[in-house]
Amino acid sequence: MSGKVFLVGAGPGDPALMTRRSLELIAAADAILYDRLIPSGALDGARSGTVLRYVGKQPGGHSMTQEAINELLVELGGRGLSVVRLKGGDPFVFGRGGEEAQALVEAGITFEVVPGVTAGMAAPAYAGIPVTHRDEASAVALVTGHEDPEKPDTALDWPALAAFPGTLVLYMGVGNLAAIAGRLIEGGRGADEPVAVVERGTLPGQRTVGGTLADIAERVTETGIRPPAITVVGPVALLRERLAWIERRPLHGRTVVVTRARAQASGLAAALSALGARVIEMPVIRIVPRPVEDELAGAVERIDEYALVCLTSPNGAALLLEALRARGRDARALAGVTMAAIGPGTAAELERGGIVADVVPERSIAEALVESLAAVPVEGRRVLVARASEARDVLPEALERRGAEVDVVALYDTVAEPLTADASRHAREADYVTFTSSSTVRHFVAALDQNGSGPPAARLVSIGPITSGTARELGLEVAVEAERHDVEGLVEALVRDAQAGGA
Ligand code: SAH
Repeated sequence: MSGKVFLVGAGPGDPALMTRRSLELIAAADAILYDRLIPSGALDGARSGTVLRYVGKQPGGHSMTQEAINELLVELGGRGLSVVRLKGGDPFVFGRGGEEAQALVEAGITFEVVPGVTAGMAAPAYAGIPVTHRDEASAVALVTGHEDPEKPDTALDWPALAAFPGTLVLYMGVGNLAAIAGRLIEGGRGADEPVAVVERGTLPGQRTVGGTLADIAERVTETGIRPPAITVVGPVALLRERLAWIERRPLHGRTVVVTRARAQASGLAAALSALGARVIEMPVIRIVPRPVEDELAGAVERIDEYALVCLTSPNGAALLLEALRARGRDARALAGVTMAAIGPGTAAELERGGIVADVVPERSIAEALVESLAAVPVEGRRVLVARASEARDVLPEALERRGAEVDVVALYDTVAEPLTADASRHAREADYVTFTSSSTVRHFVAALDQNGSGPPAARLVSIGPITSGTARELGLEVAVEAERHDVEGLVEALVRDAQAGGA
């Protein structure tokens, strides 16, 4: 029985740049040997039985020798396993994949190579630097900057590289940048030749500094640029002044915490990432639907007897429709009922079930819903308010004052999602923490208390006045409050604050 070893590139860091083939192989592997610079979450698709082994540099600087890695690959492959050797970027570009392939050939182990997007192309691309350009560069050289160019036995011909008619892309060169720039100038490149250094290319923390061969080393020291970084030497480096795109996104470089329940966080998280933010999902609550029995079952079975049904959250809307289905009914049961939704998110949930809300107030708070319902006759009629178990009574009280016969039914409970120490540490590093409901604020504060940490330094963003009020009652300062009380409104307000230099 013979196994197979796959030498797989995981790309430069943005998980979206992993190839389809790499994901397939990770999902099917018996063992994965991986390095430090692989994208976060790259191993999420592995089966639970897969052996995951880190073979990169240890914090103390020790690492497995290349020989030991080669031996391990040969041994695992020889045992008939499917082995993925996962590396950052491309396995054959400064990745020692060539040496591993040679060891496998010698041992008679079958292998395959899966190219990856290499950092030397991707980091410049994400910085707005095309490494070739019809008018600026017709050739590119990929160069290791790992070697100290002052060493007498350097393997690189620096005069030849200085004379190379095209763009130089240097990997691993941050530490030796001053010496490298010196050698290139000595070899005849102009001291004013444009240079750009891209740190953490394709990642949310990407930074680029520009300069010339004469001053780039100083600029890098001043700005504190650290590995991993790619250095681009040549006139194309200037194009980023016009073509930079990722670093110009409104939330680039900002870290934003999303405290929403995991099941609901994705829309907000996606909107923030699309604007360039690093998003930390830190769900502090979980929605637990109530079983469809007793009061809830009764309300659902006789739903057509209500003149008006009010839904005060997207969860409530989704769960009411589910409860209908659980009782063998569907949207037709609501044909004669006036449907009110507290805001656009709730209305959108209803729409998913084929129901267009009759009443949606401008502002998504209970007081506004009460006002919008003024024209709906409720006196002497039955009204259902379907909502979370824990909620304000503004709406049912107002309806009762108008003579309605109100049933309040709880569709779900909001419970605490335990937080890891890791998550609360992230919250302290964040620029913004977002709150989409009072319960997220309450559970966030409780979680911080439990972990013994004080309030975060981050700017707190609230979806609306009720959520802000809860935050202030608990001693938090709210920096930003959305004008429109839904996810888009919250994102809009956060962006405006970031652009005004809030964080
Ligand atoms: N096989 C990899 C390169 C490994 S060498 C590839 O093809 O990309 C490691 C060097 O790659 C780092 O020192 C740095 O120069 C570069 N590098 C890797 N990831 C990077 C990133 N996200 N941004 C900038 N440079 C990166």
